[in-house]
Amino acid sequence: MQPNKSASCVIGVDLGGTNVRAAVVDLQGTIIGESRTDSKAMDGVQSTIGQILIAIQAAIAQTGVNIEDIAGVGMGVPGTHKSSEGIVLWSPNFKDWNNIQLLAPIKEHLGLPVFMGNDANTAAFGEYTFGAGRGSKCMVMLTLGTGIGSGLIIDGKIYTGVSEAAPEIGHHIIVANGPICGCGRYGCLEALAKRDAIIDRAARKVSAGRKTLLTKKVGNDLLCLTPAIIAEAAYEGDLVSIETFEETGYYIGIGVSNAINILNPDKVVIGGGIAQAGDLLFGPIKRTVAINALPAALEACEILPAKLGDDAGVLGGAAIVMQSLLRPKT
Ligand SMILES: [Zn+2]
Repeated sequence: MQPNKSASCVIGVDLGGTNVRAAVVDLQGTIIGESRTDSKAMDGVQSTIGQILIAIQAAIAQTGVNIEDIAGVGMGVPGTHKSSEGIVLWSPNFKDWNNIQLLAPIKEHLGLPVFMGNDANTAAFGEYTFGAGRGSKCMVMLTLGTGIGSGLIIDGKIYTGVSEAAPEIGHHIIVANGPICGCGRYGCLEALAKRDAIIDRAARKVSAGRKTLLTKKVGNDLLCLTPAIIAEAAYEGDLVSIETFEETGYYIGIGVSNAINILNPDKVVIGGGIAQAGDLLFGPIKRTVAINALPAALEACEILPAKLGDDAGVLGGAAIVMQSLLRPKT
């Protein structure tokens, strides 16, 4: 398929376990139309492919652009891939996705070039191209949420290692023999700083009988705690909540220090829902990094909040198409 050099836009797709979001994006990175549908993650790959096509077509219909104006489609997909072959080897959120061909049917249906990458890498590429990572030579991104995603962009390219398994900063071990992680190992950054780890940290303090505003906010039902509620209490001066973010920020800061010492990046971009806590979290992260990163690497590195929010995935998908088809190779 020849690249369509006269195209005026591209399509970015962000596939998640709950929703699939598609956006038509102009070449400056502005979303000009978008649509979201249920990803039908438990209904098999054909259902999900159908949903992806529905989302893409609805996004195109919103804009009034013709298919000839679209250069291609770039998708962020959870899991491990052989992305050049369009194959998803395994995906945590989708039932029976073992070694499945994802791209060929979409390509065939739309008659457009289609690319894919791991969702965390794709979001990182979105931040690199259009957000907080612009102009970076080596950018690390962490996405803090129900898990901890990570991406690495070196010299303008997504770095995925030799078998598309890198980076997994969320699964590097911070505390040997620490709490069990979803990956089955112990003491990973994710086990210490994901959403549920933050809630558990606060809940343990409440259960220990500490005086806290959190009991006013959720009563005795600690299952109702969320990072947003803990952040709200912290901003109201609640010590238990402030400590919860201090401790979480410390672990993330150790993880970021390790990444800085190994990779010598110029930007570490931190996004995801948990990062909405702002200085409550960035404060302890930066203080920990100031102590634990090596001086030469520390001096070269900025730690920044992500800018694109939920748009990072679709914009990253769009950026992959632009880099693959529209930008001159350097
Ligand atoms: Zn792990």
